[in-house]
Amino acid sequence: MSDGAITVEEVVAWLRDFAAVMAQEKDALTALDAAIGDGDHGINMDRGMRAVMERVDAATPADVPALMKTVGMALISKVGGAAGPLYGTLFLQFGSAAGPDGLTPDGWAACLAAGVAGVRARGKAELEDKTMVDALQPAADAVGAALGEGASFADALARGADAAEEGARATIPLVARKGRASYLGERSAGHQDPGATSSAHLVRCAARTWAA
Ligand code: ADP
Ligand code: MG
Repeated sequence: MSDGAITVEEVVAWLRDFAAVMAQEKDALTALDAAIGDGDHGINMDRGMRAVMERVDAATPADVPALMKTVGMALISKVGGAAGPLYGTLFLQFGSAAGPDGLTPDGWAACLAAGVAGVRARGKAELEDKTMVDALQPAADAVGAALGEGASFADALARGADAAEEGARATIPLVARKGRASYLGERSAGHQDPGATSSAHLVRCAARTWAA
């Protein structure tokens, strides 16, 4: 797709792809969470994204801020546990940063950065706390840097997805300092964080949606 305006339909396609990936990866994400949490992350994400797509398909909001408000509220109301409110905040802040007048690639990158800042504020997580922030922050940084260097939106998102996957893999040796996994202390090391893994999927879905 072009480097021009990003449409609501494209953002819906991104969310639909993420919902499909969460359904497909439900068991894998739950297995990651069983190792260092309570084994429900895949179930939470699948349930949440099903609720999101039900609401979006029933009445697709007219612009990106309204769409992301619907998404965020569905996740917050339908998903118990940490990930619902955190992903809800990600999408709500993304939408608040969007404005009603259409999104450019630079605008999209700014929205992702605002979403990640919202997650960090809500979860009080820093880099290397072994959370979704470890995938999302490098992704937001990489997309912004790539666009700043003149990369196309498609290339910038591909670099963001690579950075997110690398960030998720880099959580393996870390000791968790936030969330349920932190209760395990040193025993949380040696496992990839489930939330960082689902977040890397979210960014890979964006790269696929806007691939050249
Ligand atoms: P719960 O931990 O309540 O069972 P989930 O299993 O759905 O919720 O989600 C767990 C994921 O949430 C973790 O893998 C981590 O990435 C993320 N997470 C947990 N607490 C925080 C936090 N304070 N800040 C950022 N992310 C967090
Ligand atoms: Mg859990």
